[in-house]
Amino acid sequence: MSKISVIVPCYNEQDVLPQLFERLGAVAATWGMDYEIICVDDGSRDRTWDLLKSQYQKDSRWRCLSFARNFGHQTAVFAGLSHAYGDYVAVMDADLQDPPEFITACLTKLDEGYDVVYAVRRQRKENLFKRACYAAFYRLLKFIAEIEIPLNSGDFCLMRQCVVAVLRDMPERNVFVRGLRAWSGFRQIGLEYNRDARAAGDTKYPFRKLVRLAMDGVFAFSAFPLRLATYLGFASLAVSIGASVIVILWKIFNFHLLGHYPSEVPGWTSIVCLILFMGGIQFLILGVMGEFIGRIYNEVKLRPRWIIRETLGIERDHPDHSRPR
Ligand code: UDP
Ligand code: MG
Repeated sequence: MSKISVIVPCYNEQDVLPQLFERLGAVAATWGMDYEIICVDDGSRDRTWDLLKSQYQKDSRWRCLSFARNFGHQTAVFAGLSHAYGDYVAVMDADLQDPPEFITACLTKLDEGYDVVYAVRRQRKENLFKRACYAAFYRLLKFIAEIEIPLNSGDFCLMRQCVVAVLRDMPERNVFVRGLRAWSGFRQIGLEYNRDARAAGDTKYPFRKLVRLAMDGVFAFSAFPLRLATYLGFASLAVSIGASVIVILWKIFNFHLLGHYPSEVPGWTSIVCLILFMGGIQFLILGVMGEFIGRIYNEVKLRPRWIIRETLGIERDHPDHSRPR
């Protein structure tokens, strides 16, 4: 009998977990397959772990592992993937924004010969500002990323074990799951769905964390920001050549320009503007370099990617996926 593993990262989700147990459990029963649900407690400070524990005691197919602290959503998903050995592996959020019924539709799609079915959001029930940010980010990423990352696809997906095995072996620490999934190749297809509003509780992704996620995506899959220095360099060179030509002609022919003759030595404003402009570009480029260097430093430290505090129903003594090889 085939088996399906569902990965659910949970961070302070005490309000929504009872609904999740019920709804996901009911849907899972219809799959006609052996299943396990791997809940990754990402260092929650509320009753999340207690709830997961009592669910495991009721039904041992709800396995869990808890991190020693908050390592972030992407790391939690990755840790789940590292422990998921089902023939099929699904990733979904705990807050039921990703409807579990959709996994059933994905299973049918996989049967058509695909290895990955990822969910594409048809509409979002979030405020206008957040929707605009998402739209801008996905378009930017599409424009500059060196791989094709599908528009409006998140982490919600169903994969075959062959794909998960590839992801599990990826040594990097700055994980951007949807990017790595796209990068891995195989036969992938998107399936549209309506993203619901959160079933209970508040978002665990404040704007600050979203920006960090977006930066991870951009810097992990594109060297465009580094090339930006070259582009800006060319652009400012072109502007300064043009400006120099005008200034020299002005000096030679001594004509009236913007209310002055060259002999009056004006130009304070233009000099200040140029200095500010060049300073701005240099700081921008230094910042970009810093982003890459910070990430390189993070990778070479080779610290474990997460620390497990406790597990329920999951073997601890298997190959240490938390340590990059
Ligand atoms: N999450 C996590 N660690 C974090 C933040 C979030 O594991 O540091 C989980 C959270 O419990 C949820 C999923 O990631 O299952 C998505 O978070 P959320 O629904 O708060 O984000 P949003 O849908 O608002 O972008
Ligand atoms: Mg959510």
